[in-house]
Amino acid sequence: MEILENPWPNPTLATIKVEVGALHLESTSGTFSMEPGSTQRMYVCGITPYDATHLGHAATYLTFDLINRYVQLSGGRVDFVENITDIDEPLLERALRDGTDWQSLAQTETELFAADMTALRILAPQWFVPATQTMDLVESAITVMHERGYVYSLEGDLYFRVSPFLSRLPYPLPECLAIFAERGGDPERNGKEHPLDPVLWIANRKDEPGWVSTHGFGRPGWHIECAVISLRYLLGESFLNGDPERASLIDLQGGGRDLIFPHHFMSAVQVEAITGQPFSRGYVHTGFIGLEGEKMSKSKGNLVFVSKLLQSGVDPMVIRLALLSDHYSKDRMWSSARLAQATEEAARIRAALSRNEVAPTSETAAAIVKALSENLNTPNALDAIFEWVAVTESGGVGGSAGEIARLLDSALGLAF
Ligand code: ZN
Repeated sequence: MEILENPWPNPTLATIKVEVGALHLESTSGTFSMEPGSTQRMYVCGITPYDATHLGHAATYLTFDLINRYVQLSGGRVDFVENITDIDEPLLERALRDGTDWQSLAQTETELFAADMTALRILAPQWFVPATQTMDLVESAITVMHERGYVYSLEGDLYFRVSPFLSRLPYPLPECLAIFAERGGDPERNGKEHPLDPVLWIANRKDEPGWVSTHGFGRPGWHIECAVISLRYLLGESFLNGDPERASLIDLQGGGRDLIFPHHFMSAVQVEAITGQPFSRGYVHTGFIGLEGEKMSKSKGNLVFVSKLLQSGVDPMVIRLALLSDHYSKDRMWSSARLAQATEEAARIRAALSRNEVAPTSETAAAIVKALSENLNTPNALDAIFEWVAVTESGGVGGSAGEIARLLDSALGLAF
């Protein structure tokens, strides 16, 4: 797969009349803000392209899309990078199961992902970087970490020494060990210095793809991929030196809540080992989406895929509206009733926007922006919209439908 610059078409954001203040976000490291007019470096963990985009993915990328839009509307800029984990166990396992080539599986699923993102009007990253295109970066980063004493070898595999960072684990050690085992780690392996040490470089196993490197023929571990991609594509060629101008190297690392540990923790401490600097100012995580009262998961086989919904004729703006109706950080449920409700709501908004006379709009616009500024409170933003819709339906006059339509489009990505 190739490194993609601007991987899918980006809609232009219409300017809005409302004043857009600072964006306040909840991070696992506390509250932090993005000042209006500022430049933000945002890294969002991308997909492992072995299956289609499900609603959990959509909700996650939608969340960071709202941040991207908000900062731009405040007159700022977001340098936005996303990776594609196009070499990892789940991808190789799926390719083997389906008797297909892992590279063409990754290519097909990435194209489908881009189509889903386009339909959902998620702004594209400037750089969309496959892990398989980062072998030289991984090689240099491991060399630097090795020189600094963070790397040891075990039967040809290279491990990262996590011990200096254990005081910062996000959960108690026994919990971390259990999660680590569930999410690709190998706490039980004999010979490791600490059970939580993550692998940096996996020596080639029979029949698996591998790359030539000064660290042997093999492939990278999961976390180092995001560490190097974020640094290289947000900081530039000299990423190994960090950025002495800043207290932390980037502003935001984002992803689903299942990435808090080990993935975001491990990529952050590896960045710190490479550069000697703290990685990100904030780490923002999204909740899970369940289906009809049950957890949605690969093992249950009840994932709802965006492409399937679109194929069945569901309006992507309805999916977007339904996902916005709950707060991003909460676990929520998807259901056919929810979809039907969002379909009705979208029709109501459209009808209100198409009236000749509409209720006053400037207070509504300000309320929407304020709700978003408070940790992306989309339920409150939608309440403000439906209040305006209700007043419009009951004959309110004096507003500009265009003002609300432009705001919905630019700030919430809802093109009605
Ligand atoms: Zn990642």
